[in-house]
Amino acid sequence: MSIDEKIQQLKQKLMGTLNATSVSDDPDVLEKYAMDETSDLKGDPWLVVYAKCTRDVSITLSLCNTYKIPVIPRGAGTGVTGGAVPVSGGVVLSLEKMNKILEIDTENMIAVCQPGVITGQLQKEALQYGLMYPPDPASLDSCSLGGNVAEGAGGPRAVKYGTTKDYITGLEFVLPDGSILQHGGKFIKNATGYNLTGILIGSEGTLAVITKIYCKLIPAPPVTFDMLIPFQSLHDATSFVHTLLINRIRPAVIEFMEEDALTLAAQYLGEAMPHPQAHAHLLIQLDGDSYSEIEPLLNKILSLCPVDPDTILTAESPEQKDRLWKARRCIREAIHTKSPVFLAEDCSVPRSSIVPFLTGVKQALTPYGIQSIMFGHAGDGNIHIDVLKNNMPYDEFKALVPSLKKIIYTEAYKYGGTITGEHGTGFIRKDALKQFASSQELSLYKRLKKAFDPNGILNPHKIIDSD
Ligand SMILES: Cc1cc2nc3c(=O)[nH]c(=O)nc-3n(C[C@H](O)[C@H](O)[C@H](O)COP(=O)(O)OP(=O)(O)OC[C@H]3O[C@@H](n4cnc5c(N)ncnc54)[C@H](O)[C@@H]3O)c2cc1C
Repeated sequence: MSIDEKIQQLKQKLMGTLNATSVSDDPDVLEKYAMDETSDLKGDPWLVVYAKCTRDVSITLSLCNTYKIPVIPRGAGTGVTGGAVPVSGGVVLSLEKMNKILEIDTENMIAVCQPGVITGQLQKEALQYGLMYPPDPASLDSCSLGGNVAEGAGGPRAVKYGTTKDYITGLEFVLPDGSILQHGGKFIKNATGYNLTGILIGSEGTLAVITKIYCKLIPAPPVTFDMLIPFQSLHDATSFVHTLLINRIRPAVIEFMEEDALTLAAQYLGEAMPHPQAHAHLLIQLDGDSYSEIEPLLNKILSLCPVDPDTILTAESPEQKDRLWKARRCIREAIHTKSPVFLAEDCSVPRSSIVPFLTGVKQALTPYGIQSIMFGHAGDGNIHIDVLKNNMPYDEFKALVPSLKKIIYTEAYKYGGTITGEHGTGFIRKDALKQFASSQELSLYKRLKKAFDPNGILNPHKIIDSD
């Protein structure tokens, strides 16, 4: 049977078993599901299936498994490493309609959610009960919890509160043969069997489709206080991070922006830079029960900080905070506006190596005469390095990309770091993983993939090829 015949048969069977409006091969719909937020990457969806319940997921997977047709799970499509892109064709299985918060159990402080729930929506809902779901990817108003779990997403608050992996106590998931399993639940500790929840966090839709998520909540700190500190050098800024932590000051957020990042953000916003002479800025957020609890911390920071206190911008009200955060939040959009084609990397390095790592990358990129923008999570060493095509001819830039990546990853590994801290391997870093991971590690990944997905139908060509 030809692939076209298989797809037609599959479509008929899906339409017979699922709600007819749940399946589409409308060219406009297919076009929409051909991409995610990865720069310069487009796939070829054959069908889009909108699952409305776990049963829909199970039926879709089991039929695709029988026909050996690839299935690409998709949350909100905000991924930046091509995870939800059907790079070699296949059925896109969208979880966006499974978007209900099923329960907020205030006594156990657990939220039970469908995978399509938008992360920011859970945060708002939890706050109604005085609770917080801490993982806060910058995309939180558009990304889904299922995508966060599948990517192991992080965010600025990771320095104090950790990432998605620290807040998932259980998952319901569907294997490629359609079987439905649950691991974990509303309980916090679990030493039973293998940690299947842990294995699925960060598995990028290659092992199973997540259909229900148990999220740990914590009491929400009622007060936050933000400050933007300009430093003479990147070294001064990152040294101050260590000073804070060693002095038992635990900010909720410690973000850094190097000079070029803030300059680009200011240009994009059409605003003047508050301290154009500064080579790096730290954006720090303190949180607590009250301002009187935060005040001594603030005074301690001011006494330890090597910069003139008058240059520090602070924010208490939502409007002031918005102003302070605007520049950090818009960096990706500013980059995209200036150069729609760019390389976006998010290496993770030991915190003490941020400066040598970034200096090494800058130096190695200099001969290429190419603009790079560096910013990210100074508190945990997860650094964003975006390299812009700008006016360079497309083919020239494309030809350069493998060398640029090699430079960045080689520097990261030189300092004991790794390829990615939160955006995942996906499609675009698969070759790098092959290059930098040991053969034993790669072989174990392949065997793990085979155990979950013997026919290799789930999100092929992501993380690792199964051959
Ligand atoms: C402006 C912007 C800012 C961002 N900031 C951050 C940030 O601060 N931190 C961060 O970590 N990321 C960030 N990202 C990246 C992205 O938002 C995250 O990776 C997010 O977790 C993706 O969620 P999604 O719902 O959009 O997933 P998608 O893009 O739809 O999918 C991502 C991956 O998850 C898989 N998947 C999705 N749902 C399921 C499911 N239910 N079961 C199994 N597999 C599934 C897909 O197959 C794919 O491999 C940012 C992206 C943008 C565009």
